[in-house]
Amino acid sequence: MFDVTIIGGGPSGLMAAIAAAEQGANTLLIDKGDKLGRKLAISGGGRCNVTNRLPTDEVIRHIPGNGRFLYSAFSTFDNYDIIDYFEGLGVALKEEDHGRMFPVSNKASDVVDALLQQLARLGVTIRKNCRVEAIDYGEQIHQIILENRDKIATKTVIIAAGGKAVPHTGSTGDAYPWAKKAGHTITSLYPTEVPITSNETFIQDKVLQGTALRDVALSVYHKDGKKVITHRMDMLFTHFGISGPAVLRCSQFIVKLLMTGEQDVKVSIDLLPDIKTNSLLQQLQKAIQGHPKKSFKNVIKGYAPERVLDFLLTQQQIDPALNCANLSKDKLETFTNSLKQFTFYVHGSLPLKKAFVTGGGVSIKEIVPSTLQSKLMHGLYFCGEVLDIHGYTGGYNITSALVTGRVAGMHAAWESFSQ
Ligand SMILES: Cc1cc2nc3c(=O)[nH]c(=O)nc-3n(C[C@H](O)[C@H](O)[C@H](O)COP(=O)(O)OP(=O)(O)OC[C@H]3O[C@@H](n4cnc5c(N)ncnc54)[C@H](O)[C@@H]3O)c2cc1C
Repeated sequence: MFDVTIIGGGPSGLMAAIAAAEQGANTLLIDKGDKLGRKLAISGGGRCNVTNRLPTDEVIRHIPGNGRFLYSAFSTFDNYDIIDYFEGLGVALKEEDHGRMFPVSNKASDVVDALLQQLARLGVTIRKNCRVEAIDYGEQIHQIILENRDKIATKTVIIAAGGKAVPHTGSTGDAYPWAKKAGHTITSLYPTEVPITSNETFIQDKVLQGTALRDVALSVYHKDGKKVITHRMDMLFTHFGISGPAVLRCSQFIVKLLMTGEQDVKVSIDLLPDIKTNSLLQQLQKAIQGHPKKSFKNVIKGYAPERVLDFLLTQQQIDPALNCANLSKDKLETFTNSLKQFTFYVHGSLPLKKAFVTGGGVSIKEIVPSTLQSKLMHGLYFCGEVLDIHGYTGGYNITSALVTGRVAGMHAAWESFSQ
């Protein structure tokens, strides 16, 4: 009989197992894969973006999917504690852009190995290649039912089986039925941090495929015209639509609008976010007046990648060879506007299995924020991406997984001691 059994060996489950064992609980960690921390090992481009150094409020703000639920857990263990924890395990971390923290070695395996060594040191029992089929909830003791029909008795269970994104890492959504069986609500699942598709002709014709835009502002609009969100980062045109950091951050807002029944969603790129439209117009007017004999295309060189400028010129029906002297005021104005508001429509996203993160999951309304315990079933806890919590890429999801795992592990151990 185990005090605490954790199902899932991702960052949330690994941390939960460590936290439970640190409290002295007889702890079992089960994973269906042959390796623990598979997704952790590919995060941050294989370098493991283990957390983020921004202040707590900022970290929470970067977890738009129910991040506020985490305030309570953060008061026990936060992003700075994660940094201290890994440094204490001998994994030196370094800060990169936007507060992202990586191992100095740039090796995800260092992070995973440190957690595995800690599990071994604490005497956690590990069962790999062991798929959990179901959970039989009892009056006092719960039974974990394995694929081979073996049963494991445990006083408390922590479900840390992840979401449904990138299923080859083991996250195949197995846990949702176990949560439902305990009476939990699973909110709609959807892809977040996901590339976006578009049926626009210029996308379908691959006119801008492979073109990268640096430091642009991408905005998403509701059909009533209201701006939903803007993110300023890099982005990229692909053969199916748009991708890159700004797009990943905007993606959940696009997906949610499409989920309400909208057929398409308006997006707009400000190619020059540091200059106001009027100032840009004046700047271009001056340049044109200064070079009346030069072609307009020559004068606007450098304002955006050449392929984008060519596309916008064609869209505005401006002959690239046209001399500045012959460009009408109206045309200059519409072209300037197109640099500030390159607008088009998007129609979908890649599927959940290709997303970085799962939106939706076990409803947080049914979870105690300070303990991660189920409000509906004794001895049941949830942590990580299985919960309806999702953040932007940049270490925020792993932070959420480690923080919720830590708190769930501690409290499951304490509950098991009281039985
Ligand atoms: C390519 C990629 C890059 C990412 N980059 C970042 C990033 O830069 N920053 C960031 O914050 N987040 C990133 N993420 C997201 C982040 O990795 C996840 O949010 C995080 O791993 C979730 O942790 P978890 O412990 O909840 O679940 P997971 O890491 O998904 O682990 C779940 C575990 O449960 C096991 N399991 C599932 N079902 C069963 C079962 N029936 N029986 C036994 N075991 C089971 C699985 O085998 C798996 O090991 C990235 C994700 C991907 C796919």
